[in-house]
Amino acid sequence: MSKSDYYELLGVDKSVDSNELKKAYRKLAMKYHPDRNPDDKEAEAKFKEINEAYEVLSDPEKRRLYDQFGHAGVNQNAGAGPGAGFEGFGGFEDILNEMFGGGFGGGFGGSGARRNAPRKGKDIRVDVTLEFEEAAFGKKVDIDFFRTEECDVCHGNGNEPGTATHKCSTCNGTGEVRYSQRSLFGETISVKVCPTCKGKGETFDQACHQCKGHGIIRKRYSRQVDIPAGAFHGANMHLRGEGDLGSNGGPRGDVIIVIRVKPHPFFTRDNNDIYYDLWISYAQAVLGDEVTIPTIDGKVKLTIHPGTPVGKQLKLKGKGIPVLNGYGRGDQYVRVNIEVPTNLNKKQKELLEAFETERTGGKKPTTGEPGTSEARSGKGKKGKDDKNFFDKMKDALS
Ligand SMILES: [Zn+2]
Ligand SMILES: [Zn+2]
Repeated sequence: MSKSDYYELLGVDKSVDSNELKKAYRKLAMKYHPDRNPDDKEAEAKFKEINEAYEVLSDPEKRRLYDQFGHAGVNQNAGAGPGAGFEGFGGFEDILNEMFGGGFGGGFGGSGARRNAPRKGKDIRVDVTLEFEEAAFGKKVDIDFFRTEECDVCHGNGNEPGTATHKCSTCNGTGEVRYSQRSLFGETISVKVCPTCKGKGETFDQACHQCKGHGIIRKRYSRQVDIPAGAFHGANMHLRGEGDLGSNGGPRGDVIIVIRVKPHPFFTRDNNDIYYDLWISYAQAVLGDEVTIPTIDGKVKLTIHPGTPVGKQLKLKGKGIPVLNGYGRGDQYVRVNIEVPTNLNKKQKELLEAFETERTGGKKPTTGEPGTSEARSGKGKKGKDDKNFFDKMKDALS
């Protein structure tokens, strides 16, 4: 099954801003929400698609990846195909809450017949950005975010302390109202959240000044998180039960920590291996040398053997990334590259030309630059002092 374009799904332009995007999403989410279309498989599928599209396009990073690579760019959720739950997406009342500025049902209570069923609270996503080395070795990170808490003034009741509460007269304290409808198939009863008390079963003379009667508030919450060694870009960590409050005795949602790792100026990472591009001169490659290589543990010395070819990979065993939640470490690979010098000075040029003359036995160099004849005249020195010649080359080119 090929996937539809996210922008098309939401009926928006590619240049849509976040406000317009949200509007378009809400409109469609309202239309296709399962609560409004019970037992309509098509609407349910559409609702999932809309949510998926919105989840990607409302996240700047994911949207960028989607714009660049299409569905493949945001494919980590591709496994969540048919049959996946809606966890992490707002329910219908969440959409309404957002639309009407909160207070619809006070965040508590589901809709319809599910009103009294325990419901898990919403998950909260927190992005943590790490340096390359921090991800490699792990780090204690302080995070903070806002989550829902029971109002500490009214203890979740919603009324100003000391003021009277009354049993809701609309629902007679049950928090729900029943509507009966006659149809060809007989009478159907539908149950809705009481519009007067929003499902609480109580009304009050004066709403709590802190929570405005909702019984819950959003509060800053902070804690320290131990990011384990070997964490990688895109990894998720779940802090179970630390998200938003559940309802009707349901558990809190989770906090999902999404790890981002900044690119390193000269290391790249593939799984637990680290790659490093070493640039050496032609003379170093030919004659060999000892060079200093950076690793995540600090600098190490590495021997370049004489005659090292371009593209050779040298392995520094165990200098890679520690295995996440495991033992051992990856390796570091040093890729040998040879710097072709530009801007040679006269002496360097002469030496190279002399070298080329030696190599070809005096045949015309393929470069055929004018003015090489005097350099070629150095042929007579052949074999006199090779070592000295190469040392000079090395000094000149390094
Ligand atoms: Zn309150
Ligand atoms: Zn009521």
